[in-house]
Amino acid sequence: MDDLTALSIPELQGLYGKRAVSPVEVVRAYLDNAGKKDTSVRAFLHLSADDALARARELEGGNPDGRPLFGVPVAVKDNICMRGHPTTCASKILEGYRPPYNATVVDRLIDAGAVIIGKTNLDEFAMGSSTENSAFHITRNPWNLEYAPGGSSGGSAAAVAAGMVPVALGSDTGGSIRQPASFCGVVGIKGSYGRISRYGLVAFASSLDQIGPIARDVRDSAITMQVLSGHDARDATSLPGSAPELVAGLDDGLDGLRIGIPAAMAEWEMDPSIREVMNRTLGELRAEGVVIEEVDLPGMETAIACYYVIANAEASSNLARYDGVRYGYRSPSDSLADMYEQTRGDGFGEEVKRRILLGTYVLSAGYYDAYYAKAQQVKAMIFEYFGRIFERVDLVLLPTSPTPAFKLGERIDDPIAMYLSDIFTTPANIAGMPAISVPAGLSPGGLPIGMQLRAGAGREQTLVRGAMGLERMYGFRMNHRCGC
Ligand code: GLN
Repeated sequence: MDDLTALSIPELQGLYGKRAVSPVEVVRAYLDNAGKKDTSVRAFLHLSADDALARARELEGGNPDGRPLFGVPVAVKDNICMRGHPTTCASKILEGYRPPYNATVVDRLIDAGAVIIGKTNLDEFAMGSSTENSAFHITRNPWNLEYAPGGSSGGSAAAVAAGMVPVALGSDTGGSIRQPASFCGVVGIKGSYGRISRYGLVAFASSLDQIGPIARDVRDSAITMQVLSGHDARDATSLPGSAPELVAGLDDGLDGLRIGIPAAMAEWEMDPSIREVMNRTLGELRAEGVVIEEVDLPGMETAIACYYVIANAEASSNLARYDGVRYGYRSPSDSLADMYEQTRGDGFGEEVKRRILLGTYVLSAGYYDAYYAKAQQVKAMIFEYFGRIFERVDLVLLPTSPTPAFKLGERIDDPIAMYLSDIFTTPANIAGMPAISVPAGLSPGGLPIGMQLRAGAGREQTLVRGAMGLERMYGFRMNHRCGC
C-alpha cells in the first residue's frame, strides 16, 4: 500500500469498506509521521498514542457504514474539552486540568468513528494570530520552519499541513481557523454562528466563538463539518433544526453563482503576492463565465476595532472564573485575596492580561457607552449591511489574510501589527456568517496563500460548493509538506 497518510477521507473509506486497510494501520502511519515531524514542528501539546491505538483496535473489523469518519485520525485544539485528557488552552493557569466531560464536538467525532490522537497547540486562550502566545512552546510552519503557522489554531493547521492528521478541529473567534489554514496551505471553515455546538469549548468571546474543521481539501472539510454541525440542546446559542446537507451538492460547480468582490480592494493594504493571487482568481473566474459584481463592504478598520472591543470585553468576563479555586493552577499564598491575585498574576501570560485589562476598561462605568455600547451598535450595522449584500450576491470573495505567513518573532512585540492580521477575517464573526479559506497558490517565497469565501448566515451549502469550485479551478490540493 502506498502512503496511507496521503489519502482523502473518501479514499480511506473506500479501502475500509473493502477491508483493504485497518484502522490500526492507518493510525500507526499518522502517528509515525507525527513522531518524525513533530519534534521540529511542535504542533501538539499532548499526543495520546496509546489511547488512539486502543481506540483503533476497538474499530478493527467494524463496518464504516453510517460512520463518515470511521478510522479517521483527528487532532483537537487544546481549548476543547475531552474527558480525562489535559485541556490547557496553552495556559499555565489550566495546567493539570482534566475535564470530567466531552465537548459535544468530541462526542460527535467519536460517534462518527473518528480516532482522536491528541490535542494541538494554540495561542493562550485562543488569543493571537501566530501560536507564539502559547505558555508551553511555539509551533512552526511546516512549509518553512522559520515562519509562524498563524493562529490561534496554528497547532491544528500545522498538524494537517505536515501530514500528522488528515483533519483537525480549530476554533475561530476572529479568524483563528481561516488565517492559520491560509498560512499552512490547508482548508479551514468557520460555520454560521450557532451551527456547531460550543458546549465544551473553553469560552474566549462567547458571541463570536465557533469550532470548525481544518483539512487538506474542501471535501474532507465538508464531510467533517457535516459531522460536527446540528442543534445541541446543551448550547443555548445553537441553531435550531437540522444542519444543511453539505456533501451532496459539492460538485455542482460555480455555474449560476453570483460572486461579490470588495469594490474598494484597490485601496486596501496587502502584500503584492496576495493581490496577484486575488487578481488571477478573478481573471480565471471571469473566464469560466462566473458573474462577478463589486460590492461595498463596510469599513474594515471599523470591523476590526469593533471586534477587539467586543472580544476583549467578553474575554474579561469569561476569564474571571480562573481564580485558583476551581481549575488547574493555584499559587500558594497566605490569604484568599492574595491567592486570587497571585494565581492570576502568575497563571496568565502577557497577551491574556492585556486583553483582560482592555476588556475591563471598555466595560467600566465611565467608558461603557463610549466603547462597548458603541461596538454593539457597529456590530448591528455590520450585520444588517451584510444581510443586504447577500440579497444581491451568493458569495463574497476576498483574501484570507493581507500577507502570507510572517516570520516567527516578527510581530510578537507589536500587538497592533498582530491584530491587523485579522482584518479580512473578523467581519464574518461579527456578522455570524460562514466563511472558508481555500489554498490558492504560493508566494514568490514559497509560502501558501489562501483565498476566502463568505456566504450569508445559514448558507454553508453555497459556501462549500463555491469553495469546491475554487479548489478545482486552482488545481491545488495540499499534500505533505516539509520543511521538517
Ligand atoms: N487573532 C484574533 C485574536 O487574537 C482571533 C483569535 C481567534 O479567532 N481565536 O483575537
